[in-house]
Formats: sequence, structure tokens, C-alpha cells
Amino acid sequence: MSDTNMPYVPPAWAFEFHGHRCPFMPLGYRMGLLALEKLGVAREKDHALHVICELGEGHPQTCMMDGIQVATGATFGKTLMEKTFWGKLAATFWYPGKTPVRYVLKPDFLDRFGAFEFFQYRKQGVEPSAIPEAVTQEVIDWTLSLPDDAIYSVSERPDFQYQPPKGSFNRSICSVCGESVFERYVRMKDGKPVCIPCSGYKA
Ligand SMILES: [Zn+2]
Ligand SMILES: [Zn+2]
Repeated sequence: MSDTNMPYVPPAWAFEFHGHRCPFMPLGYRMGLLALEKLGVAREKDHALHVICELGEGHPQTCMMDGIQVATGATFGKTLMEKTFWGKLAATFWYPGKTPVRYVLKPDFLDRFGAFEFFQYRKQGVEPSAIPEAVTQEVIDWTLSLPDDAIYSVSERPDFQYQPPKGSFNRSICSVCGESVFERYVRMKDGKPVCIPCSGYKA
């Protein structure tokens, strides 16, 4: 493992949080750190940074998003992360007053990455926690040995438009189920406030 890339080794708690050891979470972690540095901002404590991930579901490497959350503090729970469902290994990092930046994994990196033994196990349906640790570590170490520009392409996106939703503390009671529902999601049915499931309307 190259000492120069040691800052990109995720902390142990990141693997704990993620649940298994794999090479994807660390790639997201590194992407997140690079994006913070490029934007010139610190790890997000509150609600400024937003990350728009281009990943989808049912394909490899969605684990990257856990690494991005760990590195940036832009978590799903703080509603700072969203997905476009485009099935691309890319993310745009948006911060108020800064030029947004987009990171994407390079195709030739992915080709070399995919040749590691780790992927033979995955393609046979072996879950990452069941893959021999040395096999997983081999591919993690390989990624850490590479310079940033062997893995990621980065671009500035001055035209990227993003508007975080405006927050509101207002709440109503659904006239059908009696449960609380935040204002933005209240629908009217027969002149009465209802929640979306009780409304019969699509979200
Ligand atoms: Zn994973
Ligand atoms: Zn209801």
C-alpha cells in the first residue's frame, strides 16, 4: 500500500457502518474527500453540501455511496444525498456559492478493476463478507496505490442547477388515519387534509 494515499484509507468505523469490507465503499470515501478538497469546504456538519449521485440500483458499486456519506457528512438521513437512477458511477457535489464539481470513475480504471479475483467471487454470487479477506484487501490496496487521476475524472459544472427544498416545520393531522404529516406532503380530499397513502393519489 502506498503511503502517499494513506489519507484515503477509510476509518475502521466506516467499514463497521457499511457492514462488510469491499473496494467500492473506499472508492466513494476517496471521491468524497477529493470533492471536499476541490470545493474547499469542510466535512458537512449541517445542511449545506448536497451530493447528487448518478447511481441506480441492481448494479455493482452502489456501496460507493456509503463511502461518500462517511467522507462528506452529506448523509441520506440529512437529505443531503439523492440519486438520479442513471446507473453511472458518478456524483456531483453542490455547495452554496461554489462551482459544483462532478467526479466519475474512468472506464479504463473500471476495466482493470474488474479483472481482480474479487469480481470472480461477486459474479458467482458470493457476498463480500464471504470473500476471503486477502482477495478483498488485494483490490483495495491496488486502488490505494493509484494516483487520483488514474481513477477519477473531475469536471467543474458551473451550469449545474440545483435548489435544495425549503424546510418547513408545519405539520397537519391526516383526517383519515389521524397520523401527523408534514405540510409539503398534505393532500386535500373532499376538502379535508389527508396523507398521501390515505389520499389514493400518487406521490
Ligand atoms: Zn460494500
Ligand atoms: Zn392518512
